Amino acid sequence: MEHLNIVPFVSVDNMMKLVLHIGPEQVMADIATYIESDFRRWESFDKTPRVASHSKVGVIELMPTSDGEMYGFKYVNGHPKNTKEGLQTVTAFGLLAEVDTGYPILLTEMTILTALRTAAMSALAAKYLAPKDAKVMAMIGNGAQSEFQALAFKAICGVTEVRLFDIDPAATGKCAANLAGSGLKITACKTPEEAIETAAIITTVTADKQNATILTDNMVGAGVHINAIGGDCPGKTELHRDILLRSGIFVEYPPQTRIEGEIQQLDPDHPVTELWQVITGAATGRQNARQITLFDSVGFAIEDFSALRYIHDKLKTLPFSDPLDMIADPDDPRDLYGMLLRAK
Ligand code: NAD
Repeated sequence: MEHLNIVPFVSVDNMMKLVLHIGPEQVMADIATYIESDFRRWESFDKTPRVASHSKVGVIELMPTSDGEMYGFKYVNGHPKNTKEGLQTVTAFGLLAEVDTGYPILLTEMTILTALRTAAMSALAAKYLAPKDAKVMAMIGNGAQSEFQALAFKAICGVTEVRLFDIDPAATGKCAANLAGSGLKITACKTPEEAIETAAIITTVTADKQNATILTDNMVGAGVHINAIGGDCPGKTELHRDILLRSGIFVEYPPQTRIEGEIQQLDPDHPVTELWQVITGAATGRQNARQITLFDSVGFAIEDFSALRYIHDKLKTLPFSDPLDMIADPDDPRDLYGMLLRAK
């Protein structure tokens, strides 16, 4: 029995220690396994589109879910302008609680954990959808998420080469330098067209608060798998609509993706396949070698729940947390005010 009034807290420092202790590729492979097993029991979760609060410059979101035993939520923002001010586009923290008592059992940073779970989710989707012999991935957008994506595809899908493009060459330089020594062949490209040459997988992971066209229809050949990460808000997309019309589209949770994903550009009844059904075998993934498969990723609460569950399990044997005095614990549960008085 955990001391429920003392909540284990994973700081950024401890998250970095935990990830470096286990190894980033192993962590992402492990989180992918947790997501896969949670997607297999999809129907046992409480599900709702995330609760978004939009402003002119960004979005702040709450992402809750529960499997009946544990309840989790993440607070996350998306502010594409932030990097110009020395701040990150995406930051997050999250909490896991016991449903039986409602008491929290974990509070953790989730900025790093979100990058890990997003990359794990992308690679898991590609494991089911990408051409089997895919070794080369193009990555358009080389910001905070990019290295995690590259390493997850190496660890989970066997990708050996990543071809980078970003409108900001400094981002590409940073990404290439960080991935030197990773065992991946890294090629910095001057145009998106050059990046997608020979690529069987195309990852788009750009940040811009608008309907951007990172890929146009003529850039996408038969048989590729597109991992579209960056279009994840109303009015924020990355792909030309014609690409969507040629693709088999796979999504996390349709009620959320219809609002936030690339498919916001399509009719509300345009057919899409839910990824969890591909994972359970209830739906077909890639249909043939020439089909374009598109994972229209927006990020769903169950993926964060899986990541929180993974960290909670790891803390059973690893020392990377601090005790947080977060829940008031009066000797007599009804004497909360008395506890305050006695503290005088
Ligand atoms: P970031 O700001 O660190 O990096 C984004 C990069 O995209 C920058 O280097 C920028 O120069 C580049 N870029 C912008 N427009 C471009 C264009 N037209 N062509 C090429 N490059 C371009 O952001 P990040 O933290 O890496 O996040 C990237 C995106 O992923 C964001 O939109 C974020 O909201 C999204 N995201 C999605 C999920 C998910 O689960 N789907 C999770 C996390 C983040």
